[in-house]
Amino acid sequence: MSERERIVVVGGGFAGLELVKRLDKRRFDVTLVDRNNFHSFPPLFYQIASSGLDPGSISFPFRREMRKGKVKGARFRMGEVSSVDVVNRTVMTQYETVPFDRLVIAAGTTNNFFGMTELYKRVFTLKSTSEAIRCRNEILDRLERASVCRETEQRRRLLSFVVVGGGPTGVEVAGAIGEMKRYILQREYPDIPKEDLTITIVEGTDRLLRTMSENASREAEEYLGHLMVDVKLQKLMKSYENNIVTFSDGEELYSEMVIWTAGVTGEPFSIVGADVTRGPGNRFVTDVYNRVKGLDGVYAVGDIAYMTDDVYQHGHPQMAQVAIQQARLLARHLNAGGFIEPFRYKDKGSMATVGRNRAVADLKHIHLYGRPAWITWMFVHLISILGMRNKLTVLINWIWAYCTYTTSLRLLLHPTKYPLRSRWGEK
Ligand SMILES: Cc1cc2nc3c(=O)[nH]c(=O)nc-3n(C[C@H](O)[C@H](O)[C@H](O)COP(=O)(O)OP(=O)(O)OC[C@H]3O[C@@H](n4cnc5c(N)ncnc54)[C@H](O)[C@@H]3O)c2cc1C
Repeated sequence: MSERERIVVVGGGFAGLELVKRLDKRRFDVTLVDRNNFHSFPPLFYQIASSGLDPGSISFPFRREMRKGKVKGARFRMGEVSSVDVVNRTVMTQYETVPFDRLVIAAGTTNNFFGMTELYKRVFTLKSTSEAIRCRNEILDRLERASVCRETEQRRRLLSFVVVGGGPTGVEVAGAIGEMKRYILQREYPDIPKEDLTITIVEGTDRLLRTMSENASREAEEYLGHLMVDVKLQKLMKSYENNIVTFSDGEELYSEMVIWTAGVTGEPFSIVGADVTRGPGNRFVTDVYNRVKGLDGVYAVGDIAYMTDDVYQHGHPQMAQVAIQQARLLARHLNAGGFIEPFRYKDKGSMATVGRNRAVADLKHIHLYGRPAWITWMFVHLISILGMRNKLTVLINWIWAYCTYTTSLRLLLHPTKYPLRSRWGEK
């Protein structure tokens, strides 16, 4: 039996993995639990969806990570945590019960459909690698079907894409489909006239990228226009039924493929043995040391933590840098055995890209647009991806795509089940 205190970390995203790396394994018996057996890189999910990158190049197996460097000495368990028992100090997955002395919740967020309960069955989402692959398959499938479709109206219906949500993810995925229309369609799908593919991005507020500067919003809108993406602002989606998107002002829009990027909510799982009310966005309310209020020895970091201070009175932005910085500080406190320094987010800025050579970046002391922003965006993302092989693969893909306007990744790989000819999800 180990004498060391057992720390279980739920979720191996930006926060969870960073924490596991930095915890002192001589002092703690560390176990990471994640529903996937790999760490993923959400900022580039939109490139999987648009066939710009292959999923393997932005994923990294936890078990390989556990063998080396700072992570060595930690353990990995694959499993989806359904509940946490804070009295018996255990975490339950579909496979096993994992005991802990201290627990760190780093499970991030999932899609928020704002009470539109049936929506998840009808729209496509980008909150995980699998969702991005599903999105990619649907786009490629639609392009193939449209290529053999003789009726213009039907072809246009097949290729009517709507992206809901004008944040960075929405803007990036709309831009990526716009790039497919502008640069790929004629080369690879010559039977589809360009004008038959339509992309509309819909945003509830009066500008895209509302967490960035007004200039960034304006530039992004202009870039999307260049890629033939129709931008609709101040449009709140109310429902999506029978391929009709209805907005709160009564306007309707036909779309056979809606990509939903409009909101997130904390990952749901139950806490047994204590009455814990989650905060705004279904996040765990913590103090400035990431300790979950009302739960002894339980911490929350990253997107799922709701921490306020005088600067961030409504919680911190749900971004990778917040997750990483919180994880680093919590690891320092746990290693030192005391909580002394309150968390202070050091904002390094934010950025979004809209196709080749076009991006916007609001950095700490400087705002960049166009090519300089795009190069900065590429550099920042490249250094953040885990694993040298992955960095190189992504770089080669980007260079290749930049020079040739194409990628070799537009493979439509349908998952199959026995007997091999029927596909998952088919009735
Ligand atoms: C499409 C997209 C694009 C983004 N782009 C940017 C960007 O450009 N810049 C930026 O700063 N941020 C971006 N973000 C936000 C950023 O990804 C998050 O802020 C960051 O991932 C939060 O880290 P986290 O560790 O809290 O959660 P995550 O990175 O989401 O990790 C959560 C982990 O928990 C696991 N998990 C969840 N529930 C369970 C469960 N019940 N049981 C077991 N495991 C579980 C998941 O598999 C995952 O590995 C983007 C997010 C998305 C979805």
